[in-house]
Amino acid sequence: MSGFIAELPEGWLQVKVPLPFSLKWVNSYMVPEERGYTIIDPGLRTEEAVGAWSKVMQDRGIAWLDISRIVLTHQHPDHYGLAGYMQERSGAPVYMSSRAHAYARRLWGEDSDYPEALESLFLQHGMPEGLMDDIVRNLAEFVSRVSPQPVVQYIEAGEKLQLGGRQWQLIDAPGHAFGGLCFYQPELGWMLCGDQVLPHITPNVSVVPGEERDPLGCFLHSLEELKAWEVTLALPGHREPFTGFRERIEQLQGHHDRRLAAMEELLKGAPMSAFAVCETSFGSHLRRNPHNLRFAMAETLAHLFHLEGMGRVDAVRKDGTLEYEASPTGIVSFEA
Ligand SMILES: [Zn+2]
Ligand SMILES: [Zn+2]
Repeated sequence: MSGFIAELPEGWLQVKVPLPFSLKWVNSYMVPEERGYTIIDPGLRTEEAVGAWSKVMQDRGIAWLDISRIVLTHQHPDHYGLAGYMQERSGAPVYMSSRAHAYARRLWGEDSDYPEALESLFLQHGMPEGLMDDIVRNLAEFVSRVSPQPVVQYIEAGEKLQLGGRQWQLIDAPGHAFGGLCFYQPELGWMLCGDQVLPHITPNVSVVPGEERDPLGCFLHSLEELKAWEVTLALPGHREPFTGFRERIEQLQGHHDRRLAAMEELLKGAPMSAFAVCETSFGSHLRRNPHNLRFAMAETLAHLFHLEGMGRVDAVRKDGTLEYEASPTGIVSFEA
């Protein structure tokens, strides 16, 4: 990829840090400070990403010591992965929420039990063992892509943060990532929204073992809250900065309403496992891509758990596998 950098108002720079996924790049924002730059979401640690950063810094005459602070919107590896690498070179403090940091340590810490927990969840929902092995192998590849891990200081929702000479409000944005933060600047009307609201892409909402049972419910609630902010420019984690923040949120809400209705409809015939629903909804070609299959399966579970919470589907156990079926409409008649 060429042209890693775009100039934004207020002297900000948008660095498109390459990713080895269909997402193509993650946006890192360089915010000019009195001394050096704050880097928001430095990217995933890959050779290509490190090469892109070297080129950007060389072209702009920026040295490692000019990086004065690293701030993370959330803990996903495509945002968090290079934080420790940059911290080692710059000595800059790294800031993220305590919940996001706990998740990072749980996933990539030395005693991580996450692969086993995910395996147990997916297998009981019908994932074939061979495909699960591919997913576990793919998960293990991420450890090197987030190493070394940073020493972190905490920022939390409800607090304020000075960024680029202005004061920003930190907003809790759960569902895509618990502990995720959006940053809002009232005079500019800018919203740094991480992956909570993305243009052209539907943010992934995954069931994660050990976290909330209904992440989609939390995500939809958060979207409704985010609609209240007056946003003139949204700065997302992927794709380009965009206007029409509220309209984009409404599109995402519509997408999930339609997907929930489609899954409920699918389950009106015979009960199906979450894996069968996943393949019907996202296609069996995902069997060749364990990374995307993991996201699709966890997203399917998020929709099914949300439907279950609303009483629209019921779980039934069949031969050790959980299956779902649409709830009977339950017509109640009152006789006089
Ligand atoms: Zn993310
Ligand atoms: Zn992302």
